[in-house]
Amino acid sequence: MSSTGETSSIFSRIVAREIPATIVAETDTVIAFEDIAPKAPVHVLVVPKTEKYRNVVELAAGDPELLAEIVALASRIAEERAGGEFRLVFNTGEAAGQTVFHVHAHVLAGSLGEDSLA
Ligand code: 5GP
Repeated sequence: MSSTGETSSIFSRIVAREIPATIVAETDTVIAFEDIAPKAPVHVLVVPKTEKYRNVVELAAGDPELLAEIVALASRIAEERAGGEFRLVFNTGEAAGQTVFHVHAHVLAGSLGEDSLA
């Protein structure tokens, strides 16, 4: 529970180590972990530790530096694991497939098929 009494997002619970995840990188502000249901050979979620922003539009308006940190970490992971080429997906809104309303980037890489848009 957060101090406001709202339930923490599933990703905040991963940040807090309340539920397990395969964490691949972490900074003071951002965490990256393997998606539980991978849709590509590399499928990592890059997530700000704060759950203040529900989607990438809110994040870009509220903290563009934090968005740049997400992109930089995504690039580093793709460099290490897939030669530096990758797809970065921010599902934005329920109709677009967003299921977790704590902004996150899908980093997809390696033999991407047309159905791998997360
Ligand atoms: P969205 O559909 O909101 O863009 O993406 C949410 C992603 O989070 C999905 O790809 C889903 O597989 C992943 N996911 C949901 N719950 C968990 C979890 O508990 N652990 C991990 N590692 N990934 C999760």
